[in-house]
Amino acid sequence: MALTIVMYHYVRDLGRSRYPAIKARTLEAFKGQLDYIGRNHEVVTMKQVAAAARGEERLPDNACWLTFDDGYLDHYLNVFPLLEARGWEGSFFAPAQPILEGRVLDVNKIHFILAAEPDAGRIVEELRRQVERAREDGADLRPWDDYVAEYMTQCHLDTPEVLFIKLMLQKGLPEAVRNRVCDELFARFVSADEVAFASELYLSVDQARTMVRSGMAFGGHGYSHQWLASLDGEAQARDIDRSLEFLGQLGVPAEDWTICYPYGSYDRTTVELVRERGCALGLTTREAVADLGRDGALELPRVDTIFLPAA
Ligand SMILES: [Zn+2]
Repeated sequence: MALTIVMYHYVRDLGRSRYPAIKARTLEAFKGQLDYIGRNHEVVTMKQVAAAARGEERLPDNACWLTFDDGYLDHYLNVFPLLEARGWEGSFFAPAQPILEGRVLDVNKIHFILAAEPDAGRIVEELRRQVERAREDGADLRPWDDYVAEYMTQCHLDTPEVLFIKLMLQKGLPEAVRNRVCDELFARFVSADEVAFASELYLSVDQARTMVRSGMAFGGHGYSHQWLASLDGEAQARDIDRSLEFLGQLGVPAEDWTICYPYGSYDRTTVELVRERGCALGLTTREAVADLGRDGALELPRVDTIFLPAA
């Protein structure tokens, strides 16, 4: 039973936004894509997919499930009205911490640092200053040139500088240093007021509750959007339980809940933990059309919106 699970992140009117360099689906392209989906697919609900995964229901041949990651305000302002007008359900996977605590996720900080400063060389220069300062303060860091040799490399998507900044802030530097440097760069290039920025970037609890009451579906996306496979079992369980508590706060029913693994990161322990807690469906970032007969219900692949026609 083939199921096209489409994965979206930002959906916004880029031309009129303060950060036109953000990698987003534009509103026009999103509308075009909904038209395409309407002509070629039948949009199914989270409940239908859960029932089909248990073998209780058959999905239509051209089934399509719309999923939106990271709890952006875009989803309330731009996506929700368009789906509601078509009578379609979207499934939204929001991390709890940014919404409850007004924190901007590091992954989002990196997006906006790169979007705010078009000259990546200037960001690299500031990064170098920060790393050298941290070394002087006694952080256990390698010499700067080592990092450049390892992470300043060619790839088909980004320039060497942009890739270097991403890799350094995602995994190159030790976690404590990485978080602090990310905060410094964000304050310098984007905004000194993280809480205000978060309130413009993410949904509020009330907006999410409104969407739930109006027939949209929500699933878990971790409490603090961590690479679950990098945590031990206890830390994974704690993160999953806190994200379930958050779903309860949004008014999401506890039975047949679903999870989208942040960064697509999960392992055997994660699958066991969510299974024990009655999770019906788990979404990954593996790129493929899902097949409910072949793929495990807790390890479903998806298709990024960029691979679907937008007209
Ligand atoms: Zn995410």
